[in-house]
Amino acid sequence: SYRKGGYHAVRVGDQFAGGRYIAQRKLGWGQFSTVWLAYDTKTSAFVALKIQKSAAQFVQAALHEIEVLSAIADGTPSNLKFVVQLIDQFKHTGPNGQHQCMVLEFLGDSLLRLVKYNRYKGLPLNKVREICQCILIGLDYLHREHGIIHTDLKLENVLLVSTIDPAKDPVRSGVTPILERPEGNINGTVTSLIEKKLKRRARRAVAKISGQRASMGGMGEAPKSERNIDGINVRCKVVDFGNACWADKPFAEEIQTRQYRAPEVILQAGYSFSVDMWSFACIAFELATGDMLFTPKVGQGFSEDEDHLALMMELLGKMPRKIATAGAKSKDFFDRHGDLKRIRRLKYWPLNKLLIERYKFSEGDANEFSEFLTPLLDFAPEKRPTAQQCLKHPWLAEKDSIPNDMRTESSVEKVDVGISNLKIKVGK
Ligand code: ATP
Ligand code: MG
Ligand code: MG
Repeated sequence: SYRKGGYHAVRVGDQFAGGRYIAQRKLGWGQFSTVWLAYDTKTSAFVALKIQKSAAQFVQAALHEIEVLSAIADGTPSNLKFVVQLIDQFKHTGPNGQHQCMVLEFLGDSLLRLVKYNRYKGLPLNKVREICQCILIGLDYLHREHGIIHTDLKLENVLLVSTIDPAKDPVRSGVTPILERPEGNINGTVTSLIEKKLKRRARRAVAKISGQRASMGGMGEAPKSERNIDGINVRCKVVDFGNACWADKPFAEEIQTRQYRAPEVILQAGYSFSVDMWSFACIAFELATGDMLFTPKVGQGFSEDEDHLALMMELLGKMPRKIATAGAKSKDFFDRHGDLKRIRRLKYWPLNKLLIERYKFSEGDANEFSEFLTPLLDFAPEKRPTAQQCLKHPWLAEKDSIPNDMRTESSVEKVDVGISNLKIKVGK
């Protein structure tokens, strides 16, 4: 992908925007871009630099993302926002062409990583609550104040807010910026000292979030000031607005990542803000259990779409006939009675039973959690609660849930796994 029209190859110490930004370390990549931690010499802060591939369609996509990000950045202090903030944008010319670049506030690991650290066991419910609250505040802001649908909510697109800002507190975090290209370094590697410090910082953040001290795996303890995790709220922000759209001008028919896709999108029956609420429910379930809510597969004699619809009905009951038959693609899947044509026998397993039987939730936890999620998974999009309504749900207000022993244990493991996962990604 590092060819004409593709990614821009970056080396540690590379300068951007006339020397204002200096590349520090690769943070991640997607289908459209590579994202680097960069040092902003003008503000003495660390930022995330998203460098888009250079072919015309990627430039176009970046300009759209910038349009959305500019609309949602309205001068409110960034720490009060639950959506990522755009700081700057510019073009950078390299051997592969001209790359549109976005400078974003630097955030932490994604929720997907958090769930991975936890070996897919599910997070303690009070942490799930805190994360849900952040996402809902972000969604309420997008939906009500800007009329924007995200359309691609999933664990990868929600990032934790770094609890330590290395630029504001370089002594505590121990991170000093790299100001020029280190001698003998190749693409994607940084000096081991700085790398160690970055790792330690990331580990601390993970430890805080998991509700454990950073003393696991012989790594040394978190500073005293950070030990009391009860008072620390997990914070996160919604990112990746490359697919977001204004509700009054939807531009794609097929939206959302498969597992988080709402039924009306599969049926092509039109969509609005409530597609984000469906994905949100899928995220909440995944955080609490470590498993995706729906993982449809192609089978003998049926498609992925049909399996997906069957899985939904096994969990939520039969889709009302009116809804099942109302989409442009309804006839592909349903007969005129509203029954699936090719998948006849459904095994009903309601959400609260699933939580008790497969995930060993207590009956109380299971019932309360499924009362929170089920309305969001209504087949009728207009019946799903809005983000604003959802924020008032009693489940979110609950504080002292009885910790489940199994879960506490798995949070401990998280710290160990996290360390080995924090390798620099090379090669892309
Ligand atoms: P996609 O294929 O998902 O559309 P993309 O090319 O649009 O990808 P993003 O998803 O925006 O790129 O970013 C790619 C990765 O870079 C993210 O998954 C995340 O790991 C990292 N990243 C993005 N933005 C930030 C940020 N503000 N702070 C820290 N890391 C970030
Ligand atoms: Mg992404
Ligand atoms: Mg994107």
